[in-house]
Amino acid sequence: MKYKLLIGLVVLLAVIVPQMRAQEVTYNHAGGAGINPPEQYPEPPPFGLPFNTLPGPTTWSLGQGYGNTVGAYFLRDVFYRAGQGLHFGLDFSAPCGTEVVAIGDGVVSEIDSSHGSAPHNLMIDHANGYSSFYGHLLERVTLVQVGQTVKQGQTVALSGDSFETCHSAPHLHLEIRDNFHVRAYNPVRLINADWESLALVGSFEQGFSRDLADPRRWQTMKEQPDVVFGGPMLNDYPNPWPPQRGRR
Ligand SMILES: [Zn+2]
Repeated sequence: MKYKLLIGLVVLLAVIVPQMRAQEVTYNHAGGAGINPPEQYPEPPPFGLPFNTLPGPTTWSLGQGYGNTVGAYFLRDVFYRAGQGLHFGLDFSAPCGTEVVAIGDGVVSEIDSSHGSAPHNLMIDHANGYSSFYGHLLERVTLVQVGQTVKQGQTVALSGDSFETCHSAPHLHLEIRDNFHVRAYNPVRLINADWESLALVGSFEQGFSRDLADPRRWQTMKEQPDVVFGGPMLNDYPNPWPPQRGRR
């Protein structure tokens, strides 16, 4: 009898414990139910651009791309180690104070969290499992509060400058992560925009670094790989093109 009770208890635990574990990881940073994004990049791309204005010299333009950019390659040990050596977001050049809008419907999950991109940042969780992260903001976000529901296109923040001068490098850093912040995804494949045209103008270097031992890898904006935060470096190759400045 005792034996049967013990077996019953073990079976019960075997059923309950994995469910408790599953429950543990189903909460996102908003404290709501989080889910993982789809395995494949959804078509059509579910998100919009982070501005309501058209691109232009007085509004905004695409700065640094996502992925193995030449700039990220050179600074892979300095700024981008946490992102496997890649630029794990998109940079949009914009004057300080440019209105930044939510790229999709969602819930504000974090304001000025420890996810970097100083001086101020904002995270929005979306119901499709993605989270959008807006960095180098001008000031602490007051337009929205943590827990607030926002709509795509709603102004949520003002863009700033990573050097906090508003003339050094004023730009918005935008990331798309999963709800649990394990991975960063390629925003070019998730935001519905004419990326080829946007890439024609910009203030940063547009190109991607090439590994001369495998020069066809990651050639275009859309081919740039996902990033696993804290994962091994993806671009620690000895023969880059263009060559590293000052080294050869
Ligand atoms: Zn950036």
